[in-house]
Amino acid sequence: MKIAIYPGTFDPVTNGHLDILDRAVKLFDKVIISVARNSTKNPIFTEDERIALLKAAAKKYKNVRVESFTGLLVEYARSKKATAIVRGLRVISDFEYEFQMALANRRLHEDVETVFLMPNEKYTYLSSSIVREVARLNGNVRDFVPPIVRRALKKKLRAGGSSTNA
Ligand code: ADP
Repeated sequence: MKIAIYPGTFDPVTNGHLDILDRAVKLFDKVIISVARNSTKNPIFTEDERIALLKAAAKKYKNVRVESFTGLLVEYARSKKATAIVRGLRVISDFEYEFQMALANRRLHEDVETVFLMPNEKYTYLSSSIVREVARLNGNVRDFVPPIVRRALKKKLRAGGSSTNA
């Protein structure tokens, strides 16, 4: 059984994340989407909200689980018997940080491999921060996120979450 971890902040999940997930599920028997609990990014959605949105967005996949994790990613991966960490690469600017992380993780645990997947070109510009910014300015995020996320963004920003959204 080949198990992969797909870690991230997912604040919120976008169609770009789902494009990567769609590729990962074809390569692995099981994919665990792992929401970083101690993210330094000060997310606008709580951990539970991000998990709920991911679960709804990924419900068509039988071999996908969603959970949160804390601490060292490679230790968590090993505890799940995962042999791979999946990351999305959009543009060259992603590369430097991702390369550094992948090599550091390999150094920590030789047996957990990082696998980079590229999304469809139409998602290379897409990030959770762009989505949050467009939503905050009342733009239409229909092409960027699943409908459930669009509704959650509306609700969140109406509730006054915009000040933490820079
Ligand atoms: P992190 O906070 O760890 O960067 P993100 O939630 O921003 O987590 O992203 C999780 C993973 O999904 C990362 O590997 C990121 O590169 C990838 N990703 C994010 N947006 C896209 C996209 N539009 N296309 C492909 N991969 C993406």
